[in-house]
Amino acid sequence: MSNSSNATFASRILDWYQIHGRKTLPWQQEKTPYRVWVSEIMLQQTQVATVIPYYERFMARFPDVLALADAPVDEVLHHWTGLGYYARARNLHKAARQIRDDHGGLFPERLEEVMALPGIGRSTAGAVLSLSLGQPHAILDGNVKRVLTRWLALPGWPGQKQVENDLWELATRLTPRLGVAQYNQAMMDMGATVCTRSKPACDRCPVQSDCQGLSQGNPTAYPHSKPKKSIPARSGIMLMIRQGDQLLLEKRPPQGIWGGLYCFPQVDTLEAVTPCLSRLGLSEQPYRELAGFRHTFSHFHLDVRPLLIELTAPPPASLMEADTRLWYNLCHPDEVGLAAATARLLRYPDLQPQRST
Ligand code: SF4
Repeated sequence: MSNSSNATFASRILDWYQIHGRKTLPWQQEKTPYRVWVSEIMLQQTQVATVIPYYERFMARFPDVLALADAPVDEVLHHWTGLGYYARARNLHKAARQIRDDHGGLFPERLEEVMALPGIGRSTAGAVLSLSLGQPHAILDGNVKRVLTRWLALPGWPGQKQVENDLWELATRLTPRLGVAQYNQAMMDMGATVCTRSKPACDRCPVQSDCQGLSQGNPTAYPHSKPKKSIPARSGIMLMIRQGDQLLLEKRPPQGIWGGLYCFPQVDTLEAVTPCLSRLGLSEQPYRELAGFRHTFSHFHLDVRPLLIELTAPPPASLMEADTRLWYNLCHPDEVGLAAATARLLRYPDLQPQRST
């Protein structure tokens, strides 16, 4: 991006703000760090329109930092009910007490001091001090990240440290020293109303003339999403031991995958099938392999290989001595917790009871 583009970026954003920016929101009136702080916390993960009535009720009850600090936390949570993410309210209350006890009840005015309060990161601290006091701090919330990564076609996922550092460096370079409150408000408004997540209105955008994302033809490709973790694959052989309409299931121990749920006896390799059968008191049996599938856990894929084993002779009574075993009747299914893969296998057409017509 050329220096002249950088130089005019802020002035184009500021010109846009004069005409289209939001200037009448409740926290934009009688601006104080406290009032802006509460709004910034409420606006995390919540839309402006939802926040407004909550904000007004909150301010009526807790008009300043001392009123908030002196209130019981339950009352603060009560005023937050419906906004969700209650850790935000707890941190707000905790921070208010810290301001009362450590800062004499006055909202701190140095960036580092604000960032040291519970629940306040660098972007929120910058927003509070720039919007309420005009201090020249950059902000980098989700809206700003979206505008900047698109404008520059900046590759990489913003959650990665290096990408985030680059974005902070860029945001700082672009933020003007004069008119910083309007500029930061404009960037948030631009991201929320023009450069939106799925349908950016590029034809209404003040920086469309040199937007790299737009000139590439696919601005919504930015910011890049979180890279998918590559996770290992394991094989799991499920022994579907059947007698008539019943299939043998075993309850898993409480710990580990599918803890406490009923599953087919499982082994890792074909060599382990016969030892598993003998553990169950069964002799070696012929089997038929059915179609497999992949079941994905958060940290690995399980490639399920089902082997259907039809018992031709009644199993030994000792098989059911363990109270963790169950003959699951396909015609009268037990109401037990089934692992997802087990439930899927039980629906296989090969297993469905044959009915005489
Ligand atoms: Fe976003 Fe489109 Fe503006 Fe680029 S031109 S910053 S993609 S709204």
